[in-house]
Amino acid sequence: MPTPADDPTLLLTQELIRRPSVSPEDQGCLQLIAQRLEAVGFRIERMPFGPVENLWACHGKERPLLCFAGHTDVVPTGPREEWATDPFEPVIRDGILYGRGAADMKSGLAAMVTATERFIARHPNHKGTLAFLLTSDEEGPSVDGTRRVMEVLEARNEKIDYCVVGEPSSTDKLGDVIKIGRRGSLSGKLTVHGIQGHVAYPHLADNPVHAVAPALAELASRTWDKGNEFFQPTTFQISNIAAGTGAPNVIPGELKARFNIRFSTEQTVEKLQSTITEIFNRHKVNYTLEWFVSGLPFFTAPGALSAAVVQSIKEKVGRTPELSTTGGTSDGRFIAPTGAQVVELGVLNASIHKVNENVRVDDVVTLSGIYERVMELILAK
Ligand SMILES: [Zn+2]
Repeated sequence: MPTPADDPTLLLTQELIRRPSVSPEDQGCLQLIAQRLEAVGFRIERMPFGPVENLWACHGKERPLLCFAGHTDVVPTGPREEWATDPFEPVIRDGILYGRGAADMKSGLAAMVTATERFIARHPNHKGTLAFLLTSDEEGPSVDGTRRVMEVLEARNEKIDYCVVGEPSSTDKLGDVIKIGRRGSLSGKLTVHGIQGHVAYPHLADNPVHAVAPALAELASRTWDKGNEFFQPTTFQISNIAAGTGAPNVIPGELKARFNIRFSTEQTVEKLQSTITEIFNRHKVNYTLEWFVSGLPFFTAPGALSAAVVQSIKEKVGRTPELSTTGGTSDGRFIAPTGAQVVELGVLNASIHKVNENVRVDDVVTLSGIYERVMELILAK
């Protein structure tokens, strides 16, 4: 049976896409969601920090607390002329809904809201607490969003037991992959100091390119670890490198480079930093290095939440999801360290951050059904 055009999850997804909430703008998305949740009895707390809008909403007062988490912001559209349709005017064609945020992650937000509306109608006196943690800054710096809300909740000793993040986790079919962790991300900003000079008089200069090249080659070809049962091996990538004046006869005085490491739970930041500095020192590179940790790896061992999510997917779409830790970072990194079980479950991620971002209409509706089933398995009496 085709999905009716007036399906509530589909309509809400389209309403959210119409709000051009390019990070960290929220453009009224949270207001719209807050109204829907308030109408079914949620206590609403807005927690703006700087330019970022956040929402914490609860229904119930007891443990366990099951939280649905996500973001209203989207990445920029890129050149509008490359889109087949207006990115902020949702269009449905052949069972596919197009628009910026269709997959990442306005359909996920809509599915959480409509699942909640049906669940509360059927289980008004459910056990535990059903909660929402939403932000308008996941795609941006991620400083004033989920991270800050978690600090407030920690200070009030409000604990999240189970958290479903609605990020697009699926690969080929809805529910084929759920994420139970993510690798960490460590970046380095490297400056190699040399002495500028004429290429014909290299003994009077010190070429920073020659000095650092063997060290970078060693870093780029190194096997860091083999990963483990749940994590891919750690990877190192040089993302930027620059030196030279543009003239062919000048030895540069300085080289600047940036690199990033995506690391498994086999590593720690300290271990990575000491390995890398040891390599630069051994190659006698004269350098300065600034570090940025954008996320520590997190991992939720299979437990009550992943069991409920796996069962719900099996019941609704008849497949058993792979439990994965691949992909970029997500706001789960701020929630998991407090002891919460965190699982990411959402639509297909094939088109996210691309032009003509899209989602299958049927998947939007089915996802809402899966979320509702998770709520039942954990909170229904
Ligand atoms: Zn996202």
